[in-house]
Amino acid sequence: MANPDFALTCPVPLGRHRTLQLAHGGGGRLTRELIEGLFLPAFDTATPNDRHDSAVRPFGASRLAFTTDSYVVHPRVFPGGDIGRLAVIGTVNDLAMAGARPLYLSAGFILEEGLPIDELRRIAGSMRAAAEACGVELVTGDTKVVDRGKGDGVFVNTSGVGLVPPDIAIHPRRIRPGDAILLSGDVGRHGIAVLSVRGGLAFESPVESDCASLAPLVSSLLDAGVDVHCLRDATRGGLATALNELALDGGVAMEVEEHAIPVPEGVQGACELLGLDPLYVACEGRMVAFVPGASAGRALAALRACPGGEQAACIGTVQTGPPGMVALRTRMGSRRLLDLLSGEQLPRIC
Ligand code: MG
Repeated sequence: MANPDFALTCPVPLGRHRTLQLAHGGGGRLTRELIEGLFLPAFDTATPNDRHDSAVRPFGASRLAFTTDSYVVHPRVFPGGDIGRLAVIGTVNDLAMAGARPLYLSAGFILEEGLPIDELRRIAGSMRAAAEACGVELVTGDTKVVDRGKGDGVFVNTSGVGLVPPDIAIHPRRIRPGDAILLSGDVGRHGIAVLSVRGGLAFESPVESDCASLAPLVSSLLDAGVDVHCLRDATRGGLATALNELALDGGVAMEVEEHAIPVPEGVQGACELLGLDPLYVACEGRMVAFVPGASAGRALAALRACPGGEQAACIGTVQTGPPGMVALRTRMGSRRLLDLLSGEQLPRIC
């Protein structure tokens, strides 16, 4: 008789860790191992189709995009935003990355006993303002309170749904050799803004988070008639992590030019001081877009004409080559690999 406990599945090994590490939440190699080795086999939904910021499913004659994200940023208020704004913008952006028009969000709160009610009111107000600015509605939610010392003030989860317009197919599988890689703006602001208020670090040039909706930039590309192959917001793990995920999931190689990637002076200075690589520092209002090489000029013009896209740049190309390989052509002309992070660079950045 078959032993029901014996199943011939072969999940990706969960590495050497027997307990959860902070890096399992960092968006790099360990996060990928956790998803591929534990969650996908457990949920039995290991469809490679869903390696994207939102799941897209048929809904009547349309297609629905659905996504969820949790926010644990520390501290909760930082230059350019707070946990409430981040929770709305982050989920709106994950919908936009599938080409969807964001419509409705839910908000789930895990709150710690002792949290000042005024602070919670400010966070809720910030969520409402961000939702109004993005044209989405917060329509349902949940509140749980845990004992003093058993949480860390406020954790927020937001889920969101949106409608994907007809004839739009934006997905890592559509990335092709020859595609141009466009970046919508400068990198590293969000991570450095959060770090600047963590532990009382004061940088010479203050850096504000780039936390902003990417939906208008996506619309500008689609309205210009660009056949967008793929989009990804460069959040946790920064630009380098976004490129690595897409190179792996799209089965392609990529080469990007260091000189073409805008890094603000304040971010560069802080990174030098702290020993960080700005290409791995989180953004919350920047995306990479993969478009056919022949459309790169039109796509760049559309992005630059849209508020928030003024610094958009073509940073490289997709190449035939070892799937998953991302190379950086440095300012000195040498070539180095940009790998997935194996540890945690900046915990609780979003
Ligand atoms: Mg995302």
